[in-house]
Amino acid sequence: MSWECKYLRETFCDKRKKECCPGDAGCVLYGKYTFPLREAAEKEASPKKNK
Ligand code: SF4
Repeated sequence: MSWECKYLRETFCDKRKKECCPGDAGCVLYGKYTFPLREAAEKEASPKKNK
């Protein structure tokens, strides 16, 4: 099964007017799905990382 977003142009999002980032603010998928691998990577890259 595959899905293609109607706003996607190459790697650019016509809806958000910036690079596609599925599930990010402004995306049609925002709040509907979770992206655990990306969220884990963002948390890892965050300067507020808890140790
Ligand atoms: S960010 Fe969301 S709305 Fe925009 S192109 Fe990507 S999947 Fe579609």
